[in-house]
Amino acid sequence: MSRSLELFERARRVIPGGVNSPVRAFKSVGGTPPFIRSGKGGMITDVDGKEYVDYVGSWGPLIVGHAHPHVLEAIRLAAEQGCSFGAPTEREIQLAERIIARFPGMEMIRLVNSGTEAVMSAVRLARAATQRDLLVKFEGCYHGHADGLLVAAGSGAATFGVPTSPGITRATAKDTLVLPFNDLEAVEAMFDLRGDEIAAIIVEPVAGNMGCVLPLPGFLEGLRRVCDTHGTLLIFDEVMTGLRVDRGGAQTLYNIRPDLTTLGKVIGGGLPVGAYGGPRHLMEQIAPAGPVYQAGTLSGNPLAVAAGLATLELLDAPGAYATLNTRTRYLVKGLTQVMTVFGIPCVTTCVGSMFGLFFTEAKQVTNFTEASQCHLQRFNQWFHGMLTEGVYLAPSAFEAAFVSLAHDDSLLDYTLTMAERVAERIVAQR
Ligand SMILES: *Cc1c(COP(=O)(O)O)cnc(C)c1O
Repeated sequence: MSRSLELFERARRVIPGGVNSPVRAFKSVGGTPPFIRSGKGGMITDVDGKEYVDYVGSWGPLIVGHAHPHVLEAIRLAAEQGCSFGAPTEREIQLAERIIARFPGMEMIRLVNSGTEAVMSAVRLARAATQRDLLVKFEGCYHGHADGLLVAAGSGAATFGVPTSPGITRATAKDTLVLPFNDLEAVEAMFDLRGDEIAAIIVEPVAGNMGCVLPLPGFLEGLRRVCDTHGTLLIFDEVMTGLRVDRGGAQTLYNIRPDLTTLGKVIGGGLPVGAYGGPRHLMEQIAPAGPVYQAGTLSGNPLAVAAGLATLELLDAPGAYATLNTRTRYLVKGLTQVMTVFGIPCVTTCVGSMFGLFFTEAKQVTNFTEASQCHLQRFNQWFHGMLTEGVYLAPSAFEAAFVSLAHDDSLLDYTLTMAERVAERIVAQR
């Protein structure tokens, strides 16, 4: 028996499903998840000693790769000075200033511990500021696991076919209106009916929790316009895309200014950090400056802030984003070629250093319905094939994949060679 299997069986006795976050359990693809012992650069090693090129990157944060010396040194120095004080520290200001400098229109920011917390708090602020209750979200977009947002929520929830979790009251769910992604007409129709009750529209400007789905031209612009017309706030959930698709997130890439932005993942460099920010007049409504309560014992944690700052420093090196983007495009172009050569129909998408691969005959994937129509069986063959060959992809067809600065040409070329091998096998089994 492999050590991973042994550990998984032991874990299942004391941790629900053996994991501390659902998609890690391989439920949708079958099999046993490898337990990871260590990571270095673009590679991870499991407890049985098998190595993989890693395209999960802890689900997004590890944009400079695993165990980067600069990040490790920052964490070590911070730890030597004490792990947490529950009192303000100077580096929190540095991280706030560095993030704000990247997002036009963001004047203040509050640090929290996860993307979930960031979104939950931004929604509370939007409701307080507008004195309205309703929230519009899009099917297949994931905004963390807060009650009101766990309605038609992509990846984890989609994988398990539980669009709405038990335990969420009808009273909560009824304040969340769910519309199809990329469907501006549906948004306009909803606002014609209930526009003056809607506090905010929340959207992943590039959806990354139903695979990687790009906004159609005009969609984000349309959301901005509808919000302006109806006095509704626009929240860009950039927990995944912020500092990933561009140094200033999707809002910079597409040149749309949201009212509030939520961040996470990359800004913590692999440690737990989330954040939400916006213009001063909104952010000053947050306690203790204003009446909207939001707090956290470990918020702005010294180790997490140090790891985030070190990661941002690396990303500010000249050419970092150009390198990320070039490598990702190279990989995605290569994968598309492999599939074409072997006659496997697919749609590939890519923005900055996040990408997606859908096994479908369709020409494009623009929303959750289309994403769910892709061949899950084929994805599973692909996933397990690549895993066997030492390429670690997310264990679900509804996830984006990530390239880091540590994915050099040799890792990308290795990946493409293995992709060829796996594609050949898929075709042979047909
Ligand atoms: C990951 C993610 C979240 C939740 O962040 P956690 O840190 O897992 O709580 C929220 N929104 C988006 C878009 C995400 O990708």
